[in-house]
Amino acid sequence: MADRYLHFTGTAAGRFLTRRTGLPAPAALRRWSAETPALDGPLLHLTAGDSAWPGQLAPVLEATGLKVTDSAERPAGIVLDATGVITAAGLAAVHAALHPVVRSLAGNGRVVVLGTTPSPDDHHQAAAQQALEGFVRSLGKEIGRGSTAQLVRLAPGATPASAGSTLRFLLSPRSAYVSGQVVELTADAPGEDTDEAAPLSGRTALVTGAARGIGEAVASVLARDGAQVICLDVPRMRDELARTADRLGASALPLDITAPDAAERIAAAAPGGLDVLVHNAGITRDRRLVNMAADRWAAVIDVNLESVLRTTDALLESGAVNRGGRIVATASIAGIAGNAGQTNYAAGKAGIIGMVRSLAPRAASAHGVTVNAVAPGFIETRMTAAVPLFIREAGRRMNSLSQGGLPVDVAETVAWFARPGSGAVNGQVVRVCGQSLLGA
Ligand code: NAD
Repeated sequence: MADRYLHFTGTAAGRFLTRRTGLPAPAALRRWSAETPALDGPLLHLTAGDSAWPGQLAPVLEATGLKVTDSAERPAGIVLDATGVITAAGLAAVHAALHPVVRSLAGNGRVVVLGTTPSPDDHHQAAAQQALEGFVRSLGKEIGRGSTAQLVRLAPGATPASAGSTLRFLLSPRSAYVSGQVVELTADAPGEDTDEAAPLSGRTALVTGAARGIGEAVASVLARDGAQVICLDVPRMRDELARTADRLGASALPLDITAPDAAERIAAAAPGGLDVLVHNAGITRDRRLVNMAADRWAAVIDVNLESVLRTTDALLESGAVNRGGRIVATASIAGIAGNAGQTNYAAGKAGIIGMVRSLAPRAASAHGVTVNAVAPGFIETRMTAAVPLFIREAGRRMNSLSQGGLPVDVAETVAWFARPGSGAVNGQVVRVCGQSLLGA
C-alpha cells in the first residue's frame, strides 16, 4: 500500500507543513539500483585514539570502492575506528572525532562505528565498548535525513578483514532501512566475494514463501546477485509461484513446508546441494491469548518455528547444505518486543532468535555453514496493508526513519548474509526496521 504521507511530505506544501507543525518528516530513502549502486560521495575514515589494528582497516575500506579520505566537506559515509577505546576517558575521542563532522554528512549518509566485543575479564574495556552501543543507537535516532548509524564489533581473534562484506553492505544504499544495529563478527574465516557484480554466481538458493511479499523480493535479489533460485510455496499458491519463478528464471517447488517429507523434497530439488537456505514462509493467526484456540497457536508455531527447526536439522544432517552454506531465518521485531494479540507469533519468532544464536557456532564448526536471522519491522506488504489505519500509521512512523520499509530492504539484508564473503557474520539477528521504537 502506498505511503501517501511520505509522498506528501516530499512536496513543497508538505515540507512547509511538517516544519510548522513538527510532524514527522520522512526523507525519501535512496535504495540500490543499477544506476545508483553506491553511496554518492567520499568515505571519511576517522580514528578515536589509537586503533587496535593500525593500518589494517584502510585496505578494507578501499575495497568498498568508495573514495576513502581523512577529511571531506560532505562525506556520504563515515567510519570511526573505535577499536582502541578501552577506558571511559577514551570515549572523549569518539565525541572529538564525530562532533565536528556529523553535521556535514550528506543525506542518506552512513555512519559505522567499529569496536570490539566487551570483555568479560576487563570491566573498563567492557564499559567503554558497551558505551559505543548506546552512542550509536542514539545517533541513529537523531541523525535524520535518511541517514543511518551502526556498530560493528570484532570478536576476539577477528580482524578488520572479517568486516569486508559487512562494511560493503552497511556503507551502501542496500542497507537503507537498517539502522541502530549492532553486528558482531566472529573470528571464523570470512570467505571471499570474488565477483562483486554477481556474488552468488554458481550458488543454489532456496527461499520458502517465495510466491509473494518479502519472499518474492528475497528470491528476486538473490537471482539479481547471480544465484540459481528455487522458489517454494504452498501448493495452493501454485499459479503465483510459477509466475514469480518464471520472471526470475528460477524453478518452482510447490510444497507445504510443514509436510513431514519437506526436507527430503527440498534436497531432491537441489541435487548439487543448497548453498543458501532462506526460511521466510510465515503466517499470523492473531487473537489475544484468552480467545486463542489451540489450533491457531499450533498452526503458527508449526509454520514459523517447528518446520524451520525440522528442515534445518534434516538438511544439515543429510549434508544437503554445502560447506560454505548460508542459512537465513526470518524473525520479527514482534519476537523481540512482543505484541498484543500475537502471543503465538511472537513466541515463534523469538524461538527463531533462540535457534539462530544456539545453532550458529555448531553449524559453523560441524558443517562450515552460517546461521543468521533478519528481524523485519513494519514492511509494506499485504500483511501490513491489512492492519487497521491508525495502528498502520503508528507502525510506519514510530521509527527513526519515520516510514515503513519495503520487501527489498529485507531482501538486501538476506543477500548480505548469503554472500560467500560473509563467513564471519554468524549467529546475528539484524533488525530491518528503520530503528523501530518497538523493542529498541
Ligand atoms: P506474506 O503472507 O505476504 O507471504 C508469506 C508467504 O509464505 C506466502 O506466499 C505464503 O503462501 C507462504 N507460506 C505460508 N505458509 C507456508 C507453508 N506452510 N509452506 C510454504 N509456504 C508458506 O508475508 P510477508 O509479509 O511477505 O512475510 C514474510 C516473512 O516475514 C514471514 O515470516 C513474516 O512473519 C515475516 N515478517 C513480515 C513483516 C511485515 O511487516 N510484512 C514483519 C516482520 C516479519
